[in-house]
Amino acid sequence: MSSDVARVSVRVTGTVQGVGFRPFVYSLAARLGLSGFVGNDSAGVFAEVEGAPAAVAEFLAAMERDPPPLARIDQVVTKNMRPYGGTGFSIAPSAPGARRTALVSADSATCADCLAELRDPADRRYAYPFINCTNCGPRFTIVADVPYDRPNTTMAPFAMCERCAAEYHDPANRRFHAQPVCCPACGPRLSLRGRGGAAVPAGDPLAAAAALLRDGGVLAVKGLGGYHLAVAARIEAAAAALRARKHREDKPFAVMAAGLAAARELAEVDQTAAALLTSPRRPIVLLPRRPGTVAAAVAPGNRQLGVMLPYTPLHHLLLEAVGGPIVLTSGNLSDEPIAYRDEDAFTGLAPIADAFLTHDRAIHTRTDDSVVRAWGGRVAGSEPAGRGVAGSEPAGRGVAGSEPAWGGVAGSEPAGRGREMVIRRSRGYVPEPVTVAAAFPRPVLACGAELKNTFCLAAGDRAFLSHHIGDLENAATLRSFTEGIEHFARLFGIEPEVVAYDLHPEYLSTKYALDLDMDSCGVQHHHAHIASCLADNGHAGPVIGVAFDGTGYGTDGTLWGGEFLVADLAGFERAGHLAPVPMPGGAAAIRQPWRMTAAYLRAAFPSGPPAGLDVVKRNDRNWAAVIQMAERGVNAPVSSSAGRLFDAVAALLSVRDTINYEGQAAVELEQLADPGATGAYGCEITGQGPFCIEGAGLVRAVTGELTEGVPAPVIAARFHNGIAALIEDGCVLARERYGLGEVALSGGVFQNLLVTERAAARLAARGFRVLLHSRVPCNDGGISLGQAVVAGSRDRAGR
Ligand SMILES: [Zn+2]
Ligand SMILES: [Zn+2]
Repeated sequence: MSSDVARVSVRVTGTVQGVGFRPFVYSLAARLGLSGFVGNDSAGVFAEVEGAPAAVAEFLAAMERDPPPLARIDQVVTKNMRPYGGTGFSIAPSAPGARRTALVSADSATCADCLAELRDPADRRYAYPFINCTNCGPRFTIVADVPYDRPNTTMAPFAMCERCAAEYHDPANRRFHAQPVCCPACGPRLSLRGRGGAAVPAGDPLAAAAALLRDGGVLAVKGLGGYHLAVAARIEAAAAALRARKHREDKPFAVMAAGLAAARELAEVDQTAAALLTSPRRPIVLLPRRPGTVAAAVAPGNRQLGVMLPYTPLHHLLLEAVGGPIVLTSGNLSDEPIAYRDEDAFTGLAPIADAFLTHDRAIHTRTDDSVVRAWGGRVAGSEPAGRGVAGSEPAGRGVAGSEPAWGGVAGSEPAGRGREMVIRRSRGYVPEPVTVAAAFPRPVLACGAELKNTFCLAAGDRAFLSHHIGDLENAATLRSFTEGIEHFARLFGIEPEVVAYDLHPEYLSTKYALDLDMDSCGVQHHHAHIASCLADNGHAGPVIGVAFDGTGYGTDGTLWGGEFLVADLAGFERAGHLAPVPMPGGAAAIRQPWRMTAAYLRAAFPSGPPAGLDVVKRNDRNWAAVIQMAERGVNAPVSSSAGRLFDAVAALLSVRDTINYEGQAAVELEQLADPGATGAYGCEITGQGPFCIEGAGLVRAVTGELTEGVPAPVIAARFHNGIAALIEDGCVLARERYGLGEVALSGGVFQNLLVTERAAARLAARGFRVLLHSRVPCNDGGISLGQAVVAGSRDRAGR
């Protein structure tokens, strides 16, 4: 064979199925005049191409340079073959394989091409609510099994009409092998149903549903990952009715706006936020709210608003028909998981929804909307540490030379280049894996924590972090957890041999793990947080890990939550922590932050706090009993939790005495803070072993300024700055003792942008390299990933 012809076999792994990879390869080969074939198997995409060596080289380069929008290539392996002079290029049929390693992609928002067709009266899919193509549409939520082919999705019952089949089989078509392809003649249909799911004869279900919303009704809408409840966002009575019927007192509702311009009417949208809003993932983005643009009941007393843009054709059509923003919140009763099966929705949501806008394409996996915050670029009012950079930094550990692990904080990045903070990682993100640096010796199942549960299945160099499961506190959520694990195991062909779990003996996830018949690995809660941050950054440690959150079970049996750990993936040492304070009433102290105020005031003022504090007056009836509980240590477990310190200060500043959802007091305290205020409260650090930071010192300072009449927003800001300062002080002390120059920040407290920005800025000014979360939540939603990498690391070490 002459040397002017080359033949190469190619294997591509990653998210390469159901994303138009084969048609992309097909048209690329055709353009370059190459012969050969391309196909899918359970491991990914395989191909062979033959032609002029330059054309073959260009083929390989273009494949990696310019893949289809939804593809994510992990690896391309090529092998030179003997040319055999074939002609033409073909697509090989899918073959079932023994190993399943091909990746299903995440659901993706309607693409611009489909949107144009949706609005084109001449197109045969004009106004068709299920339009999709290879570049967009449902994926993870409709997949029941792999390989990703139509019979393995919930589109299986819909036989393609001739015209759809022609598009599906035409390699030059945008819908070539788009598994959910359909049209009004052959695909799913909308229907409108009344209370309890009774059929309603509606000529145009969409128009009728829009009219109901405009009239102030509550509508259940079947989305990608479950049912939402919708009302017109500007109708006060409708939002209030939804809140009352859902038994949801304060937790803000998310709003869907028709487009970016409409979103800008509701909230401040900077460049980073705009990019997140319009990304194919279409998360809910928490944004600074513009007052008076939606009903007060949408997000009572909240300076932020969760906004998202339409991500299905149905949403686009509905928003256009309604003519204004709509509330779109999970279709569930307060603590239950979101309804996703029609019959469950019809019965479960009957007390809430006046009508159901539904359809006959099933949802296979319940998936909530993802929630993110946008930040970076500017740090308004952040102060330099003001102590100068001492000569104590280890050489070469400075931030300057390190990769931009947290671009934006130092203010040195170009304006607008902010970053994404994932609060809830679910629809649009899952099941994209996190690739880890060191492979798992054996497949691992990590069961996560209790609240905001996710699980994680990991094998090889991939960790599949699940969609948001919810708070594992009831049977429905637990079922979602166990079914989810089975589904992921099947989808990614992972049979776990090691199970990782939280040390808290009462977590349902822990009990589930310990019931399994396999090697088990207990991982301390805050170690898991830090390990999760390390995995998120492709780092193995050791680092100084600052894990600040609500509470997690400590190795000494007390509740931790304000921890400085010296940690790598395999283990940790507790370098320091916040001084433990009693939680009078245990769980009651979490629901009633004023109890933490009482406990902290007692610690801050041993001979009694100044007279006349509002928080004492408001809780006069129970104050003495709670103080006594703290003193005697009866039903008052001690905790070093940073979250409880935020709670204490929130109630002290009269933000609120009781909460209606997790973290509410801290969220509102952050919103109260005046970002322009300077000054930071300080507190003492003691202890020769693990150091101990007296959080009560901050409470003393807060109380002092409160009685002097300093405005609450200024006090709240100085408290936040004080937290950032104590993080800095703790890390400097840990660096002196352990010689480490890198810090990982994790735990739910770091959802607070004020704390995160200021702590990161102070640490950077002191020469630390700071690792922050980006792809994985810093809250308990990221715990399972941390558990998985810890278990993998211990397994590698033979422990
Ligand atoms: Zn499309
Ligand atoms: Zn059709």
